[in-house]
Amino acid sequence: MSWLILPPALWLIWFTHRYGWWRTAVNYHQPRILMYHQIAEHQDGARFNGLRVPPEMFEKQLQWLTANKWTFLTMAELVEKRQQLPDKTVVITFDDGYLDNLTNALPLMQKYQAKATLYLVIDRHDNDWSTKKKKHHDSGELARDPKLTDQQVSELLESGCFELGGHTHSHANLKCLNPTQKIAEIKHSKTTLEETFNTQITSFAYPFGIYTDEDVDLVKQSGYTNAVTTDAGIDDLAQSMFTLRRVKISGKDNFYAFTLRMKNGIRGWSK
Ligand SMILES: [Zn+2]
Repeated sequence: MSWLILPPALWLIWFTHRYGWWRTAVNYHQPRILMYHQIAEHQDGARFNGLRVPPEMFEKQLQWLTANKWTFLTMAELVEKRQQLPDKTVVITFDDGYLDNLTNALPLMQKYQAKATLYLVIDRHDNDWSTKKKKHHDSGELARDPKLTDQQVSELLESGCFELGGHTHSHANLKCLNPTQKIAEIKHSKTTLEETFNTQITSFAYPFGIYTDEDVDLVKQSGYTNAVTTDAGIDDLAQSMFTLRRVKISGKDNFYAFTLRMKNGIRGWSK
């Protein structure tokens, strides 16, 4: 191999590694469940910019989904219609309950008639949950980002574009809890959300995507009909409805990466 052709070859290896463009598409009958957190501009030097999809990029994604005839459903609708889903079904999900879901995401969703399921943490103000997964993530970065008040959550519900899902009281790391504490976090958070917002809660998201078989059983026993993880992928709904994988939408991805993820659910080599 001549050194002259090495740079393009290296470029091709990098490109292939980064995007996994060669992967075949997952059957379009299998719904894509997208995982978002914030629709917000990046912060200089911040650790968690991957969680912040800039509004301009979010609009481009919604525009593309609409132009390519994707059908927007909530998780409850997905379960209800799962025997007769149209091809190209997409469920947008937001985790945690950031204020920008109302200020930045909702106007765009209304413009494109999109829908979403919001997995809302109940104790979400001044709660630095990132330290529950990694102790050294203690800069308070995510705790400082404003969260929705209950009144603002009600506005989202009244818009008709949002439904709520459970995400525990405190964004708990379930791995660290005993069974009584787990029931309080999983089951009681469902009833609290239902009473506070006068709505039905049927879907659950495991905080940090951390769960055991025991947790899956508790979610079932608590009356949820489905649950999502943070594992990357696209599932056939004939499999378990309580460990559904999602397509991670990263604030660090460019638009091409988004279209590839919609196709195969994962990025590059990574799972
Ligand atoms: Zn979360």
